[in-house]
Amino acid sequence: MSIQVNAIRSLFPILHQEVNGYPLIYFDNAATTQKPQVVLDALTQYYEKDNSNIHRGAHTLADRATHKYEETRESVRALIGARESAEVIFTRGTTESINLVAKTFGSKFIQKGDEILISTLEHHSNIVPWQMLCEQTGAILKVIPITDAGELVMEEFEKLLSSKTKLISIVHASNALGTINPAKKIIDAAHAVGAKVLLDGAQSASHLEVDVQELDCDFFVFSAHKLYGPTGLGVLYGKRELLEAMPPFLGGGEMIREVTFEKTTYNTIPFKFEAGTPSIAEVIAFKPALDFITSTGKTNIHLHENDLLQYAAELLQDVKGIIPVGTAAEKIAVYSFTIKGMHPFDVGQLLDAKGIAVRTGHHCTQPLMHRLGLEGTVRASFAIYNTRAEVEVFAQALAKIASLKNK
Ligand code: PLP
Repeated sequence: MSIQVNAIRSLFPILHQEVNGYPLIYFDNAATTQKPQVVLDALTQYYEKDNSNIHRGAHTLADRATHKYEETRESVRALIGARESAEVIFTRGTTESINLVAKTFGSKFIQKGDEILISTLEHHSNIVPWQMLCEQTGAILKVIPITDAGELVMEEFEKLLSSKTKLISIVHASNALGTINPAKKIIDAAHAVGAKVLLDGAQSASHLEVDVQELDCDFFVFSAHKLYGPTGLGVLYGKRELLEAMPPFLGGGEMIREVTFEKTTYNTIPFKFEAGTPSIAEVIAFKPALDFITSTGKTNIHLHENDLLQYAAELLQDVKGIIPVGTAAEKIAVYSFTIKGMHPFDVGQLLDAKGIAVRTGHHCTQPLMHRLGLEGTVRASFAIYNTRAEVEVFAQALAKIASLKNK
């Protein structure tokens, strides 16, 4: 393993605390990751030194803030391999990015009778906007089924795909089960029938190498807060020709070229989709998070997290009562499970009492839980700063908890 976990941990102040009398073990990284000191410093420094509105070039502070804001856009472009930074739009998060596409691409290109494909694995934010669009337009939402292991049934996907399919909006890596979907295969098949593809990268962007040009996806969306960056900030990548063809999302300052009471003309991309004053501090503070990911290396991150996942699975495989949920061949480091005879929430509470933070419940994937016949699961999700020692403490705690109901 080429990463130095202790050195990495020292960059994250929040990790060095006790919770309920125990050293914090933070395994809720799929919900949000912790932030390194450089990100915290960048937020403070922005407000101490550079605070100013951007793109209005009136003075030195405005120039500085604008320059830094646009530097982050370039770093995002590099992270996902986009052709040009104009194809990178800042939003408030994955949810807003998907809604933006549903409202703008949807209103222009989706009509009655058209079909939109999603999958059983989707997060609510990749279900509800499409349902709303279908209600408005009369389009039809179709769902790709999954196997019991949590993998897409690709034969069914191929059957659902037709010339009526206008858009496939699919999760790249599942937040609830960890399944990594065969994105390239889906995109190529979609393009063969003339459909566009939105890839929900909320869980893949920080763990997997993503090259939007190689994947050839039409849209790619993610949230900064899951990549060691600030909350309230997301990214929408879109191919230039699509973004240019789409109408604006919100109207207001910055997204215009010229306004008269009779008619408004719109700015070029990306500004056409960034109405109003954006999350300037958060965008600026996202750059050191991206630098951290790049300097650590996505491959190293994936290898380390995967090692923790394998280790957890190995330590827990013989513990009576623990039932892993989601056993796809290709996974990000999400360990979802239930314990026989126990409610996931109670398991979460008992772990919290030992300073171990996990997620419990439906993980904003109620239809998926329904498909699996579960109310919810307990989910441990690993990040670059987690250790094998933490996994051992977690496994020991779980073995004790499981033994309460499984003698
Ligand atoms: N999609 C997936 C797969 C997610 O895991 C999440 C968040 O957990 C979202 C979408 C929504 O992200 P956000 O709440 O940051 O908009």
